[in-house]
Amino acid sequence: MELLILLLPVAAASGWLAARRSMRQQQERQCEADMDSAYYRGLNYLVNEQPDKAIDVFVGMLEVNSETVEMHLALGSLFRRRGEVDRAIRIHQNLIARSTLSADQRSQAVLALGNDYMKAGLLDRAEGLFEELVENKRLLQPALTNLKMIFQHEKDWKKSFEVSQRLDLLGEKGEGEDQAHFLCELAEMAIKDSNEISAGSYLKQALEAAPFALRPQLIMAGISEKHGACEEAITRFKQIADQHPNYIGEILQPMSECFRRLQQPSRWIEWLREIYANKQNLQVMLEIASELESSDGADAAIEFLTSELANTPNLKGIHQLIALRMMQQGEHQSQFLQMINQFVERMAARQSAYLCHRCGFTTRTIHWQCPGCRSWGTMLPTDTQ
Ligand SMILES: [Zn+2]
Repeated sequence: MELLILLLPVAAASGWLAARRSMRQQQERQCEADMDSAYYRGLNYLVNEQPDKAIDVFVGMLEVNSETVEMHLALGSLFRRRGEVDRAIRIHQNLIARSTLSADQRSQAVLALGNDYMKAGLLDRAEGLFEELVENKRLLQPALTNLKMIFQHEKDWKKSFEVSQRLDLLGEKGEGEDQAHFLCELAEMAIKDSNEISAGSYLKQALEAAPFALRPQLIMAGISEKHGACEEAITRFKQIADQHPNYIGEILQPMSECFRRLQQPSRWIEWLREIYANKQNLQVMLEIASELESSDGADAAIEFLTSELANTPNLKGIHQLIALRMMQQGEHQSQFLQMINQFVERMAARQSAYLCHRCGFTTRTIHWQCPGCRSWGTMLPTDTQ
């Protein structure tokens, strides 16, 4: 339908051109007759519901001039959206080859052809066209946005960062957060190459770009923990818990390891209880129950879980409760309880996921870039409550 609506003005324009020409000189009459014939042939295809053939006829007879450039661009973009990229590329290449186009019209056609190449997966060609626009300072915002997508796809984080900085200067929102992720990718590569000085410098830059970003703080805390700088790591973990409560579950294991190395279990449980009073996080509840079991025994853990589950029942808590009860039973474990435990465990495992709050994509493990919509930092853990 969309195509047919667009084709009506194409047909009208073609008719008008044909009519205008018919008033010209005598020697053009034969050409006009051909145009008329093509016009009616195109209309005939339309009437017979053969839009593809109609398109070919109309595009073939539509002369490129300043009055029809918009029509070509609209048709090309329509073909691209329908997945007919070859046709879109033909139309846009045909446009660019014309010397009569104004600079603005040519830039529009170059951008459109670049989009066609991107859709066709010909990223090198697309990159070349967008670079040309940037060099000539034309259509900077869309050209840079597309280049950013290409560089991310190629995992060229340095170029992604540079392009994002240019977009930032143009007033594009949210670039600071993206830049922090690009710098974290570079930092993680540097850590893999055992170049921690370079990693530290990327992470510092990342926090300058986005002062409250989670990822650079998480990597920095991990580096401190690795080097045995436990107090430094704990300070960072606490900061993460304050600024990003949804991710508390991610820091509990390394944080408990720091307190274990410092041999300060009471300080650890004190912090857990404090954060639980403020945030009511499920992972923290489970951690408190584990700590209580180690320090005060299974009865204390069962009592704590039973009272918390009465307020906020959840499968992971129930699973832990059953496991504690089974442990108490020792060799005399009830088979019925074992069976229930297996069911609950499977159901609880299914709940562990990360959900993109922008597009709804779910994954089992954390992804800093959503595999669905390619946004950065939009995936949140779902088992926080
Ligand atoms: Zn998403």
